[in-house]
Amino acid sequence: VKCIFCEIVKGNLPSNVIWENENCLAFTPLEMEVNGHLLVIPKAHFNDVTDIDTDSLSEVMNFVKECCNKIKGEYGYTGFNLLNASGKSAQQSVGHFHIHILPRKEEDGIEAWPKLGVGENIYATSHNKL
Ligand SMILES: [Zn+2]
Repeated sequence: VKCIFCEIVKGNLPSNVIWENENCLAFTPLEMEVNGHLLVIPKAHFNDVTDIDTDSLSEVMNFVKECCNKIKGEYGYTGFNLLNASGKSAQQSVGHFHIHILPRKEEDGIEAWPKLGVGENIYATSHNKL
């Protein structure tokens, strides 16, 4: 099965690309969850946060930052939720690393921070060097 985001990068699938640089694309998803919803992807294929190399991850996050500043400066949004799903268990739908940008305004009525309320500490150690 072909990766639909790689097909978008190659121009083999139609897409609405808003911003682009050498290594990244920002485009509107087919289903817009909020006004201005964007997906940011690296042009190279990585599955998720666990396999993207650090340089590519830095490039994606810098690109996300630039997109957010554009949205803020040119479209009047004042806040952002950045969302990533990595892995099937985390409800990742397309297996090509991507960050959702959800632009926000004061009192826009959007609840992008669900109260899950089921967490406990699973970590066996603390203050260990990574
Ligand atoms: Zn891909």
